Amino acid sequence: MGSKVMEHFALTRRDDRLPAHATDRARLDSLVEASIAELSHSPAPRRLLGFEPWRAFEADPDFGSPNTTPRSVRANFVSCNPPSGAIKAITGPDPVGVIQAANTRAIELLDYVIRDLQGKRDEIRAGAATAATVEDIPTREALRTRFRMNADDRSIWMESSARTVLTLIRRFRGARQILADGWMRYTCLGAATITLGKCDLTEGNGCTADTRAVSCGGHSRIVLCAPWWSDDLGINKLDAQARTLLHEALHVHFGFIGDRESGNFANAHCYDQFVFDMNWLDVPTALVGSCP
Ligand SMILES: [Zn+2]
Repeated sequence: MGSKVMEHFALTRRDDRLPAHATDRARLDSLVEASIAELSHSPAPRRLLGFEPWRAFEADPDFGSPNTTPRSVRANFVSCNPPSGAIKAITGPDPVGVIQAANTRAIELLDYVIRDLQGKRDEIRAGAATAATVEDIPTREALRTRFRMNADDRSIWMESSARTVLTLIRRFRGARQILADGWMRYTCLGAATITLGKCDLTEGNGCTADTRAVSCGGHSRIVLCAPWWSDDLGINKLDAQARTLLHEALHVHFGFIGDRESGNFANAHCYDQFVFDMNWLDVPTALVGSCP
């Protein structure tokens, strides 16, 4: 595999843009599998704020666990605390409160999915039939449509290789961890061109047009854009905001998770849509095509 392509995966992440051209999905998926192997076997995995995310999950039962109480968003980690007049016109008078509410909702949505998948996986590994354990429609449909997984294929539940339910659980727990550990920083209104972590600085890589948020793998900051504060995407506004946060958290924690240019296992849209499916929420119409 070419490191050049992997670097490309670390470009600044954007949210809610129009679908890009079709790419070679199988090739991209194989890159993802290679990067998973790297994370598992590298003697010095990428570090994020002093912990080693992949290993921390393996070693620490609390990592991303729905059973741990989420920490609050730190007010002093929010750039517009308190908001100036111009910013307040967009964010409202209490931006920290808005971010906290969206963050809490994102964690709630993730926790439901993590608990549900873990419970089903445990049952099936203990010998239960998939037909009995996975009888609910959202799980079957979400696995099929977002990740092309067949709920009746026992191997996706039993195994721990790249394309399994365990991988999904790990991904959701990674996002949960960094939304809940109190270390995420927020920029309230990003500029059109921004410097973010080690991501490429390119003209217009920040908040332009309909971009809702921007983030960069390995860099614990979510840059919010004006639409995040105002555009409800035709659904409940809190859910729309929560969706963006958990989407960006996947980019931040798993630098190889991109958007539409990637195969479904490396497309953050597929994860956030899976979370919506499992929670019986409608995916915003404008984003349905983002997880092809
Ligand atoms: Zn994205």
